[in-house]
Amino acid sequence: METIIKRVKKGQLDKDSIEMAGAILKKGGLVAFPTETVYGLGADALNEKAAEKIYAAKGRPSDNPLIVHITNLGALEKITKNVPEETKKIADAYWPGPLTMIFEKSEAVPYGTTGGLDTVAVRMPSDEVARALIDVGGGYIAAPSANTSGRPSPTMAEHVEEDLTGRIDMILDGGPVSIGLESTILDMTVTPPMILRPGAITKEMLEACIGEVTVDKAVIKPNQRPKAPGMKYRHYAPKADLSIVEGEMSKVISKINELAAEQVKAGHKVGIIGTKESVANYICGDVKSIGTREDESTIAVHLFAILREFDADQVDYIYSESFDTEGIGSAIMNRLLKAAGHHVITV
Ligand code: AMP
Ligand code: MG
Repeated sequence: METIIKRVKKGQLDKDSIEMAGAILKKGGLVAFPTETVYGLGADALNEKAAEKIYAAKGRPSDNPLIVHITNLGALEKITKNVPEETKKIADAYWPGPLTMIFEKSEAVPYGTTGGLDTVAVRMPSDEVARALIDVGGGYIAAPSANTSGRPSPTMAEHVEEDLTGRIDMILDGGPVSIGLESTILDMTVTPPMILRPGAITKEMLEACIGEVTVDKAVIKPNQRPKAPGMKYRHYAPKADLSIVEGEMSKVISKINELAAEQVKAGHKVGIIGTKESVANYICGDVKSIGTREDESTIAVHLFAILREFDADQVDYIYSESFDTEGIGSAIMNRLLKAAGHHVITV
């Protein structure tokens, strides 16, 4: 299949490209598009056959449900049942934005979209291209991250091209995303609501809005069965063997230098994930700065891209510093730990 690629500029959307993409979705095809979190792979969420194509294109296990994207609160009614009262408060505060909420599903949503579950995950993105596309595409667009299953999520159209060219109908290239980690997932079918995946909307932000919120134990700890089916799969994995080194900063730097030197001596190619504050201290290997500790959102936005860069550089081992779990740090560490298969060295 030929994959059409169209550039769309924020602030002056090319109407023809968006309409072409909308027509593909309405006919049951697949279109990758930017959102503020990561690029999504869209299909008509209410058309079971279309949603099923997503699983084939990504190589995604069929029990891993899709998030349905909408652009307005009114759209919730058709696809959900028994929506709890606090939903409006949360939606007023954080929608549109990087937050997904899970509700009981209505009959309108096929099981092919929800991985056989009686619940449905819903998000209202803020990205202008995403919103325009959802509206012309029928209003309900199922969209997981637009990567091959298991690989780091795409934060630029080039990442989508790498994984899905020839497997999908179209890619809308809206440039790099602004957040870089997938949405927070909040299960609204339990009391109190539970975070199943951390993201840019933090526990503290949700609690400021509705009071107590719990967090699924599987979010940080290994060997726990997560409540979001997709969270149990190996994810975000670079091809190299990735280890996280944690502890006091000067000891972390010495340890990474020691490990990197050993591997280089053994003839292996090594990548190091440091920060603006630390990169000058590393003495060998392919050293990359992921961002600055002064603003963790800079780390979030580069995490997946840096893992893909190390894939392209064909390194054998990657050593990464560890990050605080405050605020968005909790989402950064959740993805980094998964990418590392929970391999952590404490110094
Ligand atoms: P992705 O869109 O690729 O970032 O993945 C979507 C995530 O949402 C996966 O981890 C899914 O398991 C999770 N998810 C989607 N729908 C549901 C649902 N109804 N219940 C629990 N988790 C869900
Ligand atoms: Mg994904």
